[in-house]
Amino acid sequence: MALIAILAGDGIGPEVTAEARRVLDALDLGFDFEEGLVGGAAYHATGHPLPPETLALAKRADAILFGAVGDPSCDSLERSLRPEQAILGLRKELSLFANLRPAKLFPGLEDASALRPEVASAIDLLILRELNGDVYFGEKGMRTTASGLREGYDIMSYNEAEVRRIAIAGFEAARRRRGKLCSVDKANVLETSQLWRDVVIETAAQYPDIALTHMYVDNAAMQLVRNPGQFDVIVTGNLFGDILSDQASMCVGSIGMLASASLSDWRSTLGLYEPIHGSAPDIAGQGKANPCAMILSVAMMLRHSLDMPAPADRIEAAVSAAIGKGVRTADLGGTHSTREMGDAVLAALA
Ligand code: ATP
Ligand code: MG
Repeated sequence: MALIAILAGDGIGPEVTAEARRVLDALDLGFDFEEGLVGGAAYHATGHPLPPETLALAKRADAILFGAVGDPSCDSLERSLRPEQAILGLRKELSLFANLRPAKLFPGLEDASALRPEVASAIDLLILRELNGDVYFGEKGMRTTASGLREGYDIMSYNEAEVRRIAIAGFEAARRRRGKLCSVDKANVLETSQLWRDVVIETAAQYPDIALTHMYVDNAAMQLVRNPGQFDVIVTGNLFGDILSDQASMCVGSIGMLASASLSDWRSTLGLYEPIHGSAPDIAGQGKANPCAMILSVAMMLRHSLDMPAPADRIEAAVSAAIGKGVRTADLGGTHSTREMGDAVLAALA
């Protein structure tokens, strides 16, 4: 029996995870579930944001369902104890370097998109974000300059093996979609990006069937709102992917609609599934959070890690039906609660 690790985390994490769990229970697919502490919740209970038991559970599981981490009460802790270290640690420890973030407009959400309806309707893209390198993992620190000024620094680095594996994942993803890959970098300014571009071009020799283009990240940000229909797969680094995917979410209605899968290899079945959003402390505990991103993450989990495409399709159709009926949480301009959105998805599933 497959084991699903449930790491709900902080803020709205537990609220949206509860709805995802209701969907899984309704489908009754015969999984074992085990919950683990993570993030601020884990820090407050055990003194560590990623306790060894949680890491062991994640390693033992067939798939990990992850809510969100981030807790303002931990802001003054030293960096290694902050909630965010839990997700960075999980990604690194499990080598989850390939983060798939699909973005597509659900019919009915044209009014929620930041773009004109005809521009938004054309969106059907996948952002593939590298997760194990870049400025997030480089040496960082605070020092004092010779003239007595405080100076913060974060080293941005990528080696060619790290770029090659995400490039391969990008070409493979494009092959399974519409055959177009856009690599996003800042090669005119950054050495990491120059290496990125060189390695992507080398890798392209093995993928003559894929149409490869390159774009600077600033232009990509602009093109994403000007003409997002031009993109199929976007492959990019950790920092650029973080920013571009939050931007893409507003093009399809809300950050509360985008799911993600983090994989260690494009062939591997172990994966971590989470909404692209964070713990949203500003709305936590109010029953306002949109659970769709989390519910759609369950669909990605069933498809990628558990080889169950049929229930995955059913979940996506149920979210689409709930949206089609006009059920809207506040982020989508409505007044429905997290639970009511979950109820609408469950009703559509039944
Ligand atoms: P992280 O660093 O973990 O990515 P973040 O600082 O980017 O976190 P989020 O927690 O994603 O921030 O929140 C950004 C904004 O989006 C907040 O105003 C939050 O309320 C809103 N938001 C995030 N997720 C949802 C959701 N599921 N439903 C409604 N609003 C959301
Ligand atoms: Mg964010």
